Amino acid sequence: MNRGNKAIERFPSRRGRFIRVDMRHSLSPPVFRIGRSKTGLGLFATSPIRKGAFIAEYWGKRIPTKTADDLNSKYLFEINSRWTIDGSDRRNIARYINHSCRPNAEPDIRNGTIRIRAVKSIDPGDEITYNYGNGYFETFIKPLGCKCAACARKRRRARSKRARA
Ligand SMILES: [Zn+2]
Repeated sequence: MNRGNKAIERFPSRRGRFIRVDMRHSLSPPVFRIGRSKTGLGLFATSPIRKGAFIAEYWGKRIPTKTADDLNSKYLFEINSRWTIDGSDRRNIARYINHSCRPNAEPDIRNGTIRIRAVKSIDPGDEITYNYGNGYFETFIKPLGCKCAACARKRRRARSKRARA
């Protein structure tokens, strides 16, 4: 895979601010941009991404899962009962991928590496999402109400049903 010679790419985030991303862990040239989403920043496709394609690795410091709960980080990704990745480094582009209950990507964990892959074809402009899993959902998302597109649609449908009733 040609990853180019540039390791660090600057992504504009908001008003003159840039996020520096380490491109050695993702498709290069990038097929995504960082943009505004309902839950803050998110990752959006800028080119078509075919089903099955590798998008980015979720990388970071590898820490024992036993001690991970003591860290106050939103960016912990448990590989197994032994190891967890702390993906809070801003150069980790995968940390900008938001949760969805009906995602278009998913993490593929192999040999201690977390690779985010497309599970359907993704169009330019689509937000790239994966399902964060039950544990994370119950603890962090459910108490606030899930803001993913699928749940927003569900709420709209429920509201219009109530309005008709
Ligand atoms: Zn949802």
